[in-house]
Amino acid sequence: MPELPEVETVRRGIERMAVGRRIARVEVGRERTVRRTSREALIDGLSGTTITHAGRRGKYLLCSLDSGEQLMIHLRMSGRVLIAESGAQRLPHTHVVLHLEALGEEPSRELWFVDPRTFGEVVVFDPDRLAEQMPELIRLGVDPLVDEFTPEILRQRFAGKRGNLKGTLLNQSVIAGIGNIYADEIMHRAGLRWSRVPERLSMPTIERLHKAIVQILGDAVASGGSTLDDTQYVDVMGDTGSYQNEHRVYGRAGEMCLTCNKARISRTTVAGRTTCYCAVCQR
Ligand SMILES: [Zn+2]
Repeated sequence: MPELPEVETVRRGIERMAVGRRIARVEVGRERTVRRTSREALIDGLSGTTITHAGRRGKYLLCSLDSGEQLMIHLRMSGRVLIAESGAQRLPHTHVVLHLEALGEEPSRELWFVDPRTFGEVVVFDPDRLAEQMPELIRLGVDPLVDEFTPEILRQRFAGKRGNLKGTLLNQSVIAGIGNIYADEIMHRAGLRWSRVPERLSMPTIERLHKAIVQILGDAVASGGSTLDDTQYVDVMGDTGSYQNEHRVYGRAGEMCLTCNKARISRTTVAGRTTCYCAVCQR
């Protein structure tokens, strides 16, 4: 499932390839993709508007339109945003197509939302009516790359959190954008076991964790995200990421720890998710 670094890589692609373009026409195939509203609502909300900004909060892509509304795309399990030449042969499972007009010397293009498992979503909403139309954005926690994210903010977010660290990092209302891969990598970088209790972490430990969050997510964005064997994550041009080559614990259960070379990576299940850690490095 795409996490913050993959979604940020897609956002940058949309910024480069689609911002400033007018949407001439919209096609919606599978209605499950637009289930929050309707096929007509998406077509009416997008046709004739220009994409003015590509933003992101956590795993939510949020594009501003010159109509004042916003386009939200959530990739969920298997969604992909691809930019294609106009008239290119569609991929299977292409559920939404935005026809983008030519811009200056650049020819017209198509933005495709492709989603084999159809958990993903495409919605046009009014940012002044978030409570009715996109209530989960109100509950969303701090985005560690977009919002003001400091060790002090992290300490405040962890106050009263008595569950385990892994589950808290996965909780999108605490910090937005971290999923299973990066939670494990972040805890390894910070030298913290999944079972630590967030509200009991000392300030120096929170500072170490904060640094690990910013570094791991930043490095992963710089690598274009992680593309795993069992996922189909690619950027808008169809290219894979390379951060999977930097993983130190995720997907490495039973292999020697690359950090200490003293223990094999352990695997357990936490909050219903496979969790990989080094029992020597992570305390
Ligand atoms: Zn180790």
